[in-house]
Amino acid sequence: VAQVALMDIAADYGDGFFDDEGNAYGCNIIMPLDLPGISRGKPLEKIGKRPLPQGEIYFDNVRVPRRFAIATQEDYKIKHAMSWAHAGTAMGHVATGLARAAYEMALAYVSERVQGGTNLSKLQLTQFRLGTMGAKLEAIKAMARHVAMYTRLSPQPHPYFTASGKAFCCSEMFTIVNESLQLFGGVGLTREYPIEKLLRDARAMQIEDGETNILFMHFGYLMTQLHEQQGWASSQA
Ligand SMILES: Cc1cc2nc3c(=O)[nH]c(=O)nc-3n(C[C@H](O)[C@H](O)[C@H](O)COP(=O)(O)OP(=O)(O)OC[C@H]3O[C@@H](n4cnc5c(N)ncnc54)[C@H](O)[C@@H]3O)c2cc1C
Repeated sequence: VAQVALMDIAADYGDGFFDDEGNAYGCNIIMPLDLPGISRGKPLEKIGKRPLPQGEIYFDNVRVPRRFAIATQEDYKIKHAMSWAHAGTAMGHVATGLARAAYEMALAYVSERVQGGTNLSKLQLTQFRLGTMGAKLEAIKAMARHVAMYTRLSPQPHPYFTASGKAFCCSEMFTIVNESLQLFGGVGLTREYPIEKLLRDARAMQIEDGETNILFMHFGYLMTQLHEQQGWASSQA
């Protein structure tokens, strides 16, 4: 159970919560969770990612020493962007690992399961299904690496691009995990095999760290802004 939390919250530096352009001021704080006034609710009963004991945290007139602030008025914007970019990068890699684990389980299962007088793995339909899943897995791997390189090396990384990578990896990952479970047939739904847990965790990742549609929408917004402001991707530019 967490002893500290990284908080990303709105802040008033004496001039209200918004700048002249309507952007919120904010701060990042490493919050010790044993300060007076902090209490917690019970861990939520979630469908997936159950070992992560998330729950509500209540703050009642909590005073936090200044030294716990890691980003304030001047550097908040860039640190806020970078923390999202790095979270999205990590999620892409987690999605890749999850998809790969599910794929390997399915591959092992169809190589043993006999149906219609032969191993499932000998059937062309199974091989086709494994082929489409395998190609998606390679695409996720490539995207996760591409996003990590871009976020670490680009002079101007952008969290909306990183977010689109997280959304892509997680949504393609879900189709792989779902199809892996499908290859198990009925036993895939039982707790006899860990594939059902992977499916539940994969489901949570469509929402965790940004819901997929919203993240794709952010990337689309970035593209329209770049086109409007810089003529990006325009044949006339
Ligand atoms: C496993 C897990 C771990 C998490 N860990 C953390 C954590 O460590 N820290 C943390 O702060 N949060 C955490 N979260 C919370 C997570 O970031 C949010 O659940 C997620 O961003 C979605 O926000 P929401 O639940 O408020 O959904 P909402 O924003 O209410 O969205 C609900 C639906 O409405 C749609 N929607 C929302 N806004 C719009 C819009 N403007 N236009 C059109 N449609 C819209 C969404 O696409 C979605 O389908 C975690 C969640 C999960 C599942």
